[in-house]
Amino acid sequence: MTVAFLGTGIMGAPMAANIAEAGLDVRVWNRTRAKAEPLSDVATVADSPSAAADGADILVTMLADGSAVAEAFEAASPASGTLWLQMSTVGLDWTDRLAAMAEEAGVVFVDAPVLGTRQPAEQAQLLVLGSGPEESRPAATPVFDAVGMRTIWLGPAGRGSRLKLVMNAWVLALTNATAESLGLARALGLDPALFLETIKGGGLDVGYAHVKGGAMLAGEYPASFPAGLAAKDARLVVEAAGEEVDVAGAKAVLAHLEAAVEAGHGDEDMAALYRAVLKER
Ligand code: NAP
Repeated sequence: MTVAFLGTGIMGAPMAANIAEAGLDVRVWNRTRAKAEPLSDVATVADSPSAAADGADILVTMLADGSAVAEAFEAASPASGTLWLQMSTVGLDWTDRLAAMAEEAGVVFVDAPVLGTRQPAEQAQLLVLGSGPEESRPAATPVFDAVGMRTIWLGPAGRGSRLKLVMNAWVLALTNATAESLGLARALGLDPALFLETIKGGGLDVGYAHVKGGAMLAGEYPASFPAGLAAKDARLVVEAAGEEVDVAGAKAVLAHLEAAVEAGHGDEDMAALYRAVLKER
């Protein structure tokens, strides 16, 4: 089984490495070739999306957003019958558009975004939210098993992206709530660390608050999930909610993330929204 893997960023590079280590033949392509080169021990580094996809059985995309995925898919021009595992977070409209592009090309489309960040990707511990034709499952499973601890199959394509947005609304809200409680503690003259100490081990505790809150307290934001991409995801949540449901919390997170990005912190981890909460520039 040959896998063409497009996009070797924070998530894609370890995912591609894990697929290769599981014994599949992997060809990687990345716009910035230098980020694909470290994979040359386990995979073939291709010069173009089409060189990666030529003759491949499976195409995997793990790129920043819908337009980057569409561009790479068109450039890849995979053969009819190729299985396309679209694992980037692109939201609902782009998922529909990519599914239509796949149909036109005779490519089998599986919408399969992931939960988990840099470390779970490195440890093959992602949670794959798979959705697409039932008959695609046997071929997709070796790839999903190589990158994740579990795959949830949700039915027709589009349902994976729907659940991904639901989960992202939760992740974004947790990060923002952590930042605001730490910031409020500081503004009220308390040691902000008291917030994390006080929730520890009780019904209000959640591991994520300690991970992101720890980064906020340290003021160090090496990117697990870049703030720029988190802003994209908050926007996708707000767009998907439309007029159906009031997602005021997601809009508030988006405002903090946009402020952090505008201040030049888009490549830092999304925990850097704490800077916006503290009104740092
Ligand atoms: P990343 O490190 O910033 O990687 C982004 C990738 O997209 C890079 O390969 C980048 O290429 C490529 N790219 C961006 N714009 C492009 C364009 N116009 N044309 C071609 N390639 C382009 O981000 P990441 O964290 O790996 O995220 C990848 C996807 O996974 C995103 O959809 C993200 O929302 C999703 N995701 C991320 C996490 C996380 O915690 N990090 C978790 C779950 C899902 P260059 O190297 O050339 O810039």
